[in-house]
Amino acid sequence: MTEPAAQILDGKALAARLCQRLQSAVATLKGEYGQQPGLAVVLVGDDPASEVYVRNKGLQTTAVGMLSFAHRLPADTSEAALLKLVRELNQDDRVHGILVQLPLPPQIGQPAVIAAIDPAKDVDGFHEVNAGRLMTGATVRALVPCTAQGCVMLIKEHRGGNLAGLEAVVLGRSNIVGKPVAHLLLEENCTVTVAHSRTRDVAEVCRRADILVAAVGRPYLVQGSWIMPGATVIDVGINRVIDDAGKARLVGDVDFASACRVAGAITPVPGGVGPMTIACLLRNTVVAACRQRNIEMAAL
Ligand code: NAD
Repeated sequence: MTEPAAQILDGKALAARLCQRLQSAVATLKGEYGQQPGLAVVLVGDDPASEVYVRNKGLQTTAVGMLSFAHRLPADTSEAALLKLVRELNQDDRVHGILVQLPLPPQIGQPAVIAAIDPAKDVDGFHEVNAGRLMTGATVRALVPCTAQGCVMLIKEHRGGNLAGLEAVVLGRSNIVGKPVAHLLLEENCTVTVAHSRTRDVAEVCRRADILVAAVGRPYLVQGSWIMPGATVIDVGINRVIDDAGKARLVGDVDFASACRVAGAITPVPGGVGPMTIACLLRNTVVAACRQRNIEMAAL
């Protein structure tokens, strides 16, 4: 008997389709309105992983026709110097979106930096104004955190547009992923449970999920035995491990091999949520540019 294999939700392909739509939206903004959206990315320090993210973001920004501004600051940059740069970017008309790459060095307070970004340019969606809009259901006026948006788009690839009434379990309660995913799924009329490090019997909670989103940062935490047959499994985790052959590789929070035998659909790591996060960052920049210039665009 052949074992059931889950549908693999191809984040790369879905992100490429979104980027195509963004490219034509940007062409319209340039051609009809004389507006070219611009994204500024600020990197403090020389963390190699962050450096790769920032480079990729810049390349993809220009690939869809937008302006890309990269600001690289030394690791010993003071909070005051970073806040000054953020204020300058807030005032810069060529910049419609600002992203400060996290984590920041210890001498810089992350909350103060996030609070300094103009909410209209906060394409990460981490400012309290955008978090508040998402939480109160004013989602159409919010800039929604990119990874969370990407997760919901991937879920809809498997489930279609109507998620009403489905049981969703979100593992992790960070402001960056867990909480915004939970709010978006509530907006979609799911019944949402948020599980975290203090949850009793996480496996049992997961087993009731039609939709399971794992955003924890623990390699292989979610086993096939935690998954309801046919469930949609979104693996947000990015964990670097050394495999049996001694090679470093990236894995998610879900044990892919055992989960594949039970789930209805699952995202791979890499190639699942990651590409969607960058595509949604570009989407937020286009959305921000349209709102700042009062331009009505078709939904992207
Ligand atoms: P975080 O450390 O801020 O939060 C982790 C959450 O997991 C916490 O809320 C904690 O309560 C919960 N948790 C810890 N142990 C648990 C356990 N045993 N059972 C249940 N919950 C547990 O992390 P984050 O920023 O939300 O990121 C989570 C993961 O997602 C990381 O691996 C990160 O690298 C990855 N990530 C990926 C993308 C992407 O684009 N693919 C974007 C952001 C984050």
